[in-house]
Formats: sequence, structure tokens, C-alpha cells
Amino acid sequence: MDRMFFQDKRVVIMGLGRFGGGLDSALFAAKAGARVLVTDLAGRNDLEDAICELKDYDIEYRLGEHCEDNFHNADVLIVNPAVPPDNKFVKITRKAGGLVTSQMELFFQMCPARIVGITGANGKSTTTSLTAHLLKSACAQQGIGYKNVWLGGNIGYLPLLDIVDQIRDDDLVVLEISNFQLEQLAQIQAAPDIALITNLTANHLDRHGTFECYCCVKEGIFKYQKTGETAPVISIFNAEDDITRAWYQKYLNDPGRKCLAFSADDVPDEYRQAFRLPGRANLSNLAAALTIVSCFDIESGCIAGAIEAFEGLPHRCQFVAETNGVCWYDDSKATTPVSTMAALNGIDEPKILIAGGYDKQISFAELGVCIAKRAKAVVLIGQTAPKIAEAVKSVGPSDCAVRYADSMEQAVAVSAELAELGDVVLMSPACASYDMFKNYTQRAEAFVDAVKSLPRH
Ligand code: ADP
Repeated sequence: MDRMFFQDKRVVIMGLGRFGGGLDSALFAAKAGARVLVTDLAGRNDLEDAICELKDYDIEYRLGEHCEDNFHNADVLIVNPAVPPDNKFVKITRKAGGLVTSQMELFFQMCPARIVGITGANGKSTTTSLTAHLLKSACAQQGIGYKNVWLGGNIGYLPLLDIVDQIRDDDLVVLEISNFQLEQLAQIQAAPDIALITNLTANHLDRHGTFECYCCVKEGIFKYQKTGETAPVISIFNAEDDITRAWYQKYLNDPGRKCLAFSADDVPDEYRQAFRLPGRANLSNLAAALTIVSCFDIESGCIAGAIEAFEGLPHRCQFVAETNGVCWYDDSKATTPVSTMAALNGIDEPKILIAGGYDKQISFAELGVCIAKRAKAVVLIGQTAPKIAEAVKSVGPSDCAVRYADSMEQAVAVSAELAELGDVVLMSPACASYDMFKNYTQRAEAFVDAVKSLPRH
């Protein structure tokens, strides 16, 4: 597969979206000389930014709806990860003999470099960026046998297809791979040379149905690794997670494969002290990144220095402000109960939690127990507010007050009323944002704006 393949082909981009590579795919196809049509259920207003970036290219749009004819006539359909493989329009292209592919599949088919891929339920972005940061520092300071280290994938820093021509075979690519992208890679049975799973907990059950189906998709990152090449593939598992520990055993004796496992307990003191991110979950992310780094020949002094310089990512337990003796933290990226529990357990001060959002059909039972135990109050917003309230109340009597709010601004105001000197207000919703916001970034902005406009006394 190369750029030439796309010349003069009718390429349909399904889902321009705000994430997920629709824009990258459209640019790539247009530059490769394809006749490009972009179709999206969202309207022009919602997609304005992406459309503006495509303005120099001759691209057709079908927005606010999908039209069967477009799918029937596509030579190539590049599908956004948010579209399930059994989508009825995707089936039309397949049936008509068109090629159905995705940004991630195309990248794997065209990238000449060795790929490190990271997936998991939680901690993917932190682990991926930390891994790339450590490898990049080592690459600059002492060399690691690769010319450049690239960071991209679900983390969204790089338009993968647009830059694939700049990637050389002696470079290294570090990718965050979402479950939806893994599902797409499974279509071509592709997986990274070095694969790591951070952990496994129920997520995206609205799309995958059962936890078993979800796990099955995740296992693809190991199952489709190409053993039998000159260098063994490397598979890295979380030793603290029951399912991935079982996978470690399952794959351990596979010829052409090296299996490694990581645990937060194994992080040496020297690195632990240098690390600035709070909580055990982040220590697990560090352990994961260090295990990848251990596959390269890097001096420990170089690693410790780079760990110290790592500041973490925005919207993951990020300090926002201190108002009237209360500290406010933005953990908008916590879109699963496990992430929110990690944040609640990682902060020791008395906490008021702002939670709730889009309903992904995940159980809040465990989160309810954790909130009742670790929070002095919870202010609930969004679709899942009643479910989370029920989960907290069903634990039995606790000191945790339950309140509701209709907007983020109101949630911040209610939290400010409840908070006392020395408290922490943590916006860690345990849910996706789509019921009230465009995405988690917009949710964070609403939170930060509301916090910044609180009266000070
Ligand atoms: P992902 O990319 O998988 O969504 P991130 O690294 O962006 O994960 O972190 C999202 C949120 O999940 C953070 O706000 C943090 O509170 C929580 N988190 C981070 N690492 C872990 C982990 N290893 N286990 C559980 N929760 C985590």
C-alpha cells in the first residue's frame, strides 16, 4: 500500500469528527490525488474547524446525513474509529466490492519504522507520552539505535498519514491505540512489534456489548503480533491485573515472542522519588513505561533525569487554582469509574467530587463504594447522575453528601458552597462528556472558567 494506490480513486471519508483521524485521512487522500468525499452525521457548524483546514483541496461534502449512493460508489472507504464495523453503510461499500479501511490500518500498512503500541482501559495517554518522553530524551542524550522517536495515535498529536512519508525505517514510533482502533487493526491482523496493555476494566460496553467481547478486541494487540520475523516481538502485560496476568502465561512460551510483565511495586526508589505524578495508578503507568524502556539499552541516570522532567498531561488530575483555601483539580479525562477511583484514592485531602456524564452502560457499584468512603460530598451532573447517586446511596449510610447540578457552572457553585478550608474539589466525571459537551476538553474549559470566576474572599 502506498500513496499511488489512491490516485484518481473515489475515496469516501466516513466521520470527519473532531478526533479519530478523519481530517488526517481526508488530507492524505486529497494530497494523494484521490477524488474525496467527506460524509458525517454532524453538520457543517460542528465540523467548521476541520473543514477550514481542508479548504485548499477540492473535496465534496455530504454533511448532516449519510447517503447510500456515496457508499455504494466508493472505491475506498476510510472509516472513523467511532463507526462500528457492522455499520449498515460500511456494509454497503463492502458488498459493492470497495475497500474498507481506516487511518490506523493505512498507517500500519505504510509505516516503515518499528512500532511500539500501547492500549488499555486507563492510563494509555499518560503511559504513551511518558514512554515517548523517556525514549526521546535517551535518543537525544546517548542514542538508542534509532534516529527519531515519533509520538502519535489516539493521543492525537500527529496526523499519522500526513507524516508517514517522513518516517524512516531507522525511526521508532510510539502509538496510543484505542479499542476502536484495535478493532480496525484486527481486520488486517496487524499489531505493533512492541505491545503493552496498561490494564483491563469494563469500558465501552455500549459498543462492545460484553466485557468478554471488549477483552477479545484488546487481546488483538498481542494475538496479531508477527512472530517469526528476525527479531522477536515483545508483549508486555500488567502483572497486577488478573486477565492480563493470565495472558502473560498464555503467550509466555510462544516461539518468536518475548513476554514481560510490570507492577507498580517494581519501580526502583530512585525513579519513584524522581516521579512527580500523584497516586498508585500513575506509578503503574511509570512501571509500564519503564518496562518498554528496558527493551532498549539506556543508562539509568539518563532515565531518572527524564522522569523528573515529565509533568504529566492536561486534564489528568491537573491543578487548576486555589480559591479561598480550596484547591480545584481538573480530571476531565477520567471517563471511566476506574479512572475516577484512581484519582479519589490518589488524593489524601477531604474531597468534593464533581462527577457524571454520558451513559456508557458501565456499572457504578464500585465507584459508589469508593465515593462513599473517600469523598465528603459528590455533586452530580449529566445523564448518569441518578445512577451514580443510587450507587452511593446503596452502600448504606455514609458521611458523603449527594447533590445535583444542571450545569458545570452550577456544579462548581454548589461545590464552592460545600467546600471548607483545606478541601479539594475534584472534577473527575467517571463518564464521557458527550451528553453535555463536545468533548472532555470543552468540559474542562467549562470547569476552569467557572472556577476562575468564583468570588474570592
Ligand atoms: P486514557 O488515555 O486510557 O484515557 P489517561 O492517561 O489519559 O488514560 O488518564 C485518564 C485518567 O485515568 C486520569 O485522569 C487518571 O485519573 C486515570 N488514570 C491514569 N492512569 C491510570 C491507571 N493506570 N489506572 C487507572 N486510572 C488511571
